Amino acid sequence: MKSILHLTRTIPFILIVTFFLIIASCGPKGHRKGKQGTRGEHKEYKLLTKSDFNNLGEHSFDLNNGTKEEYNSAANLSGSLKEIQKKTEGLWPRMAKGEIYNVSESKIKLSENKEFLIFETNNIPDHVLTRTNPNKAKAKNYKFFIPKNPKLLKTPYKITNKTQEIGIALNGVVIAGPYDSQKKIAPYNRIVDECSSHADPQGMYHYHFSPLCLKNSKGDSVGGSPLNQIGWSFDGFKIFGLADRKKHMPFIDNCNGHSHEGEYHYHATIDYPFFMGCYKADPPATNFEQKQRKKNSGKRKKI
Ligand SMILES: [Zn+2]
Ligand SMILES: [Zn+2]
Repeated sequence: MKSILHLTRTIPFILIVTFFLIIASCGPKGHRKGKQGTRGEHKEYKLLTKSDFNNLGEHSFDLNNGTKEEYNSAANLSGSLKEIQKKTEGLWPRMAKGEIYNVSESKIKLSENKEFLIFETNNIPDHVLTRTNPNKAKAKNYKFFIPKNPKLLKTPYKITNKTQEIGIALNGVVIAGPYDSQKKIAPYNRIVDECSSHADPQGMYHYHFSPLCLKNSKGDSVGGSPLNQIGWSFDGFKIFGLADRKKHMPFIDNCNGHSHEGEYHYHATIDYPFFMGCYKADPPATNFEQKQRKKNSGKRKKI
């Protein structure tokens, strides 16, 4: 009995580790086409194109499709979720080819106890690092607790512009909320690279949009399909890849998720809030305290 219990716990762990290994072996296509010298010499590195996606799920490919003016006005939008979504319909995040750089290796340790999956991560990704702003990723020492049995709340917690980190990708990298430090909508106000990411001034690397550069062993985008898990929300629910809120059924709710056969999960979307808009279950407060342990950056507000 004990060994069966052990097996049921180890098999998901092995699957997750295998997934990391697959991701680790597959950089973006543009990166693989580049010269195989030091990373800094990858002159052929290109921004993702339509041909990089054999499987973009329910979406056609259209990154960085707004003008500067459109992005500026989208970044300043406020109001209800539906209003923001209506005003930004069809607009993809602002993306640019980044300058390649290197830092230390990605380190991640996954363990668990009765209540939590525990991610200990240096927050350095396992794929090519590029930058579209002056900041560089720095190795961190983060420990995230993901509840194994999240309980749906009657009233979800809204993710406000005070909340920066909201979840973790399977490769151990922070998933950010929709706002930046200027309290503007980040994927429109800031320029992310083709991994939908950048580092902040403290060197915290983070995804602002579905991490499209993550690929599986077939070279297909992991973040581009609504069928693939890309990470965990801090409240314990899974986050799946890009879903089209007009096509993906059942309807995606205000928190950017829905239930399939009794299991609730969130989706990445091309529009606001990009990942979660609110938490359907209670996230452990300690997850918000990793960046500045003394300061609680994740004050939650009931909606
Ligand atoms: Zn950011
Ligand atoms: Zn779904």
